[in-house]
Amino acid sequence: MNIAKDTVVTIHFTVASSDGTQIDSSKNGEPMVFLQGSHFLIQGLEDELDGKTTGDKFVVDIAPNLAYGERHDELVQAVPKSMFEEMDVNPGMTFRATTDDGEQSVMILEVNEEDVIVDGNHPLAGMTLNFDVEVLDVREATEEEIAHGHPHTEDGSGHTH
Ligand SMILES: [Zn+2]
Repeated sequence: MNIAKDTVVTIHFTVASSDGTQIDSSKNGEPMVFLQGSHFLIQGLEDELDGKTTGDKFVVDIAPNLAYGERHDELVQAVPKSMFEEMDVNPGMTFRATTDDGEQSVMILEVNEEDVIVDGNHPLAGMTLNFDVEVLDVREATEEEIAHGHPHTEDGSGHTH
């Protein structure tokens, strides 16, 4: 069958930045299983998978607006060091912060005398991503999976009811 909304899809994928640097790959581990149409994947990849079937392979470049969005300079902010209390903060560290937009991953860019410069942009924001994808399996989702918005794998990994 072909990939469409409310199918459960298994893929192997490798994703790289436009300069060829590998960011992530499923190939050294378990393939990725997801419910198509649940926005588990970035929009550009869901769009590209639509209509594909088991055995299909493709390579695609996905622009930021269909991936993790553009970078927003206003999300780079100086936070008083005192807000980190006893925490040992270093550039490159990431942490979860509660913001007006909900929980967000924030990365520390710089630490100086009084301030910590943090970046609330998604680490992949502003990047065109190159995906190399192989479709391993496509099946219809069960009603329960559709209701939950995610697949239930045979071994139930990562999910209990
Ligand atoms: Zn569930």
